[in-house]
Amino acid sequence: MKPKVAFFDFTGCEGCQLQVISLGDELLQVLGLIEVVNFREAISDKRDDYELAIIDGAISTEEDIKRIKAIRKQAKVLITIGACSSLGGVNCIRNFHPKEFLLKAVYGEQAQHFDTIPARPIWAEVPVEYQVRGCPINQGEFLKVITAVLTGRQPVIPNYPVCMECRSKENVCLFDKGMTCLGPVTRAGCGAICPSYGNFCWGCRGLVDDPNETSEKELLKKHGLTPEQVIKAFRFGCGFLEG
Ligand code: SF4
Ligand code: SF4
Ligand code: SF4
Repeated sequence: MKPKVAFFDFTGCEGCQLQVISLGDELLQVLGLIEVVNFREAISDKRDDYELAIIDGAISTEEDIKRIKAIRKQAKVLITIGACSSLGGVNCIRNFHPKEFLLKAVYGEQAQHFDTIPARPIWAEVPVEYQVRGCPINQGEFLKVITAVLTGRQPVIPNYPVCMECRSKENVCLFDKGMTCLGPVTRAGCGAICPSYGNFCWGCRGLVDDPNETSEKELLKKHGLTPEQVIKAFRFGCGFLEG
């Protein structure tokens, strides 16, 4: 019997689910190992007899909390995909603004009909077995994690900084080009894609375990960021922890 798998989305742009759908031939190989019973973006079936739940998006309403707890009760293994579900991601920026201001800005005159709570990652509400990080996820890493889980192996998830991948590509460091970067404290696994194309790393995979945040903050200040800009620079990957 193939393991039954369900994909669920919470608050996010659903880009991480699109990354899964757009895997093409490699997705077909994974589909040979599983039975997908719930995946709103891809199929119309909605069964609740799954063993593995894959979650995209952050928690942002009281209803989300009830829903994720029900999913957790059913799933033997729960995997979060993307920065929103694994870290809170871009959603956590709203935790630093008054709720009334945000509801009015988004819903205008209809604001009274909506409610929200501070955004948070899935692990803040229920236990999570594995996280595939990134905004969006790296497709190769998703395949690695899901095949490891399906074959009973422990997936290997990098716990070293993006700088190591960046240096191994022989990129010129952005700090030497007058820019700033969160690569020294951010968890690798993306192949240092942003600095490789001349963009700074903004920490979408979250921090490595035991990051040297003090040194990174000093480095950012030395390269021209104000203390306020330094705090904001960490908000995408660590906004939930800061709030
Ligand atoms: S992590 Fe990024 S790509 Fe994935 S759902 Fe959130 S905002 Fe979209
Ligand atoms: S560009 Fe960023 S990731 Fe690359 S070496 Fe410099 S600090 Fe590290
Ligand atoms: S370089 Fe940084 S921001 Fe870019 S994908 Fe990797 S972790 Fe995310």
